[in-house]
Amino acid sequence: MLVCGPVTDVTLGMPQTANPGSELLASARAQLDGAAKVLGLDPGVHRYLAAPERTLIVTLPVYRDDGTLEVFTGYRVQHSTARGPGKGGIRFHQAVTLEEVQGLAMLMSWKCAVTDLPLGGAKGGVAFDPREYSEKEIQRLTKRYTAAILPIIGPERDIPAPDVNTDARHMAWIVDTVTMMTGSHSPEVVTGKPIELGGSRGRTEATGRGVAFVTLEVLRRMGRSPEQARVAVQGFGNVGSFAALALAEAGAKIVALSDISGGYASAKGFDIPQAIEHARRDPKRTLEGLAGASRISNAELLASDVDVLIPAALEGQITGANAREIRAPIIVEGANGPITADADRMLADRGVTIVPDILANAGGVVVSYFEWVQSRAQFYWELDEVERRLEIYMRRAIDLVLAKAKVYDCTPREAAFIVAVERVASALDKRGIFP
Ligand code: NAD
Repeated sequence: MLVCGPVTDVTLGMPQTANPGSELLASARAQLDGAAKVLGLDPGVHRYLAAPERTLIVTLPVYRDDGTLEVFTGYRVQHSTARGPGKGGIRFHQAVTLEEVQGLAMLMSWKCAVTDLPLGGAKGGVAFDPREYSEKEIQRLTKRYTAAILPIIGPERDIPAPDVNTDARHMAWIVDTVTMMTGSHSPEVVTGKPIELGGSRGRTEATGRGVAFVTLEVLRRMGRSPEQARVAVQGFGNVGSFAALALAEAGAKIVALSDISGGYASAKGFDIPQAIEHARRDPKRTLEGLAGASRISNAELLASDVDVLIPAALEGQITGANAREIRAPIIVEGANGPITADADRMLADRGVTIVPDILANAGGVVVSYFEWVQSRAQFYWELDEVERRLEIYMRRAIDLVLAKAKVYDCTPREAAFIVAVERVASALDKRGIFP
């Protein structure tokens, strides 16, 4: 096939350096290993699923506003397209590495499989700190990145979406680039687009709403009402803010919040719409200066004495070094990979209930799937239709995962991986290995 830019067909070895991205990849692989053992997976299929199908590394020259030329590195990884086209976000962050993108792409395969979407797993990223660049510079970089990965993306190949530090604006720039380069109006090439360009109603808030939905479901199964729940949320971006909002609307008390500017506590509970408005007006989109809050550190937030902890910022936040400090009996993973493998074992041994990322934050990809369907059909649904169908997909997934956890006497994370790996392996088996 046609591929532009240097292509690296990476056979995964163990990560070279210790960084959160390689930790995340190692965790994703360890979880695959666990599921493969339980399922008695064929060793060849297991090896195939441990590596991404395709890795594209691109070098991106972009002019800064002052006329100097800067060069960036970008990635697009497709882990498995056994069940359908790749699906996964694009992340702009200084800590983006190849290992991180590979690990996140693998998690997307499992996330699409656990929610039974006809999609595979992919992820992309560019390593830079967007806070250091103007909007125009980021637009040029996004468009150049899109042009560089165009040979391997498309509505029937791989459909990107927003992730950390990217949103509907970036998706609109991607639609424009693909439209300019192909000559065909191409809204179905990405999801998470603005509504005016064919985005789905309810997509922006879908991941956070899904996180809240599974949190309320776990509380309900434990015989707890939302009003009795005190919640701490790490990260107040797309996922954290909408999860906090939906939980507060259900009656839960959000007593601790944090973002890049630090942590904030309020014993009586935050007014979440007011906190969202504060972050929206803040030039850096943070909670800095939030009224009625006492300052705490990020470490203190994670160790809060709450019923539910929702890490919704970045990966590798709860590690072997701080897992002992965690006091919440329930952790719902809003972010991808926020708990390292060693911390996961320590918390599970202590009886902490962990709702894994591939289930907890799947609401975003479920509504992305709805958006892809709507864009391809050029027929758009009302918000209540999106929310009703989101709830059906999330409920079906959580019911199945918790039932499997009983059958195999394992944690919800292990059960979610068993469901997902079994589905991907079964698709491979039915297709037959090519040629
Ligand atoms: P975002 O950029 O909108 O928000 C990230 C938030 O984390 C910001 O509030 C930022 O200030 C905060 N943050 C960054 N570093 C921090 C730190 N060291 N301590 C505390 N807070 C910190 O990103 P997002 O879209 O909300 O994504 C958050 C996580 O959820 C990521 O792991 C992402 O992969 C995952 N996720 C996102 C979606 C989605 O639809 N956006 C879907 C599934 C999973």
